[in-house]
Amino acid sequence: TKEVSKIKQTPQSDKIKQKPIVMYEDVHKSFGDVEVLKGINLQIKPGEKLALIGPSGSGKTTIIRMLMTLEEPTEGNIIVGDNNLWKVKKDGEFKRANEKHLRKVRGEIGMVFQHFNLFPHMTILQNCMTGPVQVKKESKASARERSIQMLEKVGLGDKLDNYPNQLSGGQKQRVAMARALVMRPRIMLFDEVTSALDPELVGEVLEVIRDIAQDGEMAMVLVTHEMDFAQEIADRIVFLEDGVIAEEGTPTEVLEQSTNERLQSFLHRFR
Ligand code: ADP
Repeated sequence: TKEVSKIKQTPQSDKIKQKPIVMYEDVHKSFGDVEVLKGINLQIKPGEKLALIGPSGSGKTTIIRMLMTLEEPTEGNIIVGDNNLWKVKKDGEFKRANEKHLRKVRGEIGMVFQHFNLFPHMTILQNCMTGPVQVKKESKASARERSIQMLEKVGLGDKLDNYPNQLSGGQKQRVAMARALVMRPRIMLFDEVTSALDPELVGEVLEVIRDIAQDGEMAMVLVTHEMDFAQEIADRIVFLEDGVIAEEGTPTEVLEQSTNERLQSFLHRFR
């Protein structure tokens, strides 16, 4: 049942006391004339599990892509650890973290995408090893050993030499998770990782996420439409609507007690 499987390594009160590892301060983002984020203030604490929900087009993916430095804000600050990742003023004066800090931040953040983004010409073991070897300059032997462990953890220890196109969607997504985890990130970003999967494959992927959530001090941000799953694993749920945070709180506060009408009508469509 939900109560039994509820994941909580650290009491919520302890997490709140900790210093955030990520801070968004009045972050705006426009594409051309269209402002898709209209002043986002958001903090992520070490080890916190955050679910980002909201209608399609509300800006969820853009929020996490900025943290991966795949998009730049048009205004506002994003701070990771003690440093500004982005610092953009209203007049457009623009400062991005220096390359050294950027590399460090990228190394601390792992992301899993909706469409897997595996390297098709590499075996799944090679897919996992390439980050530690290329980016972290880890020895091949050590990267190989850790990658095998990670692939075993996601239940793919018998597929090491297969290529991505030989795997099901669920298996590919589990490779993508192993590949991100082997980099030992402090934060993992999951962008609708089950929405491209056939319904019967969703469960195996959620199971891996549940597993990761359980054994880690790693912070997780999940963009998801799986409301029951969000309720089960999130410490906090953030509801994004039309580029602003329209509601946030514990799963109970957001999913059961909120009287926000737009949230209600959104939830109605997914439950
Ligand atoms: P969500 O993840 O909530 O579905 P997104 O963050 O993907 O929302 O997108 C928010 C809005 O920004 C959408 O209207 C989308 O079309 C627009 N958008 C996202 N990326 C781009 C881009 N590279 N160029 C132009 N518009 C974009």
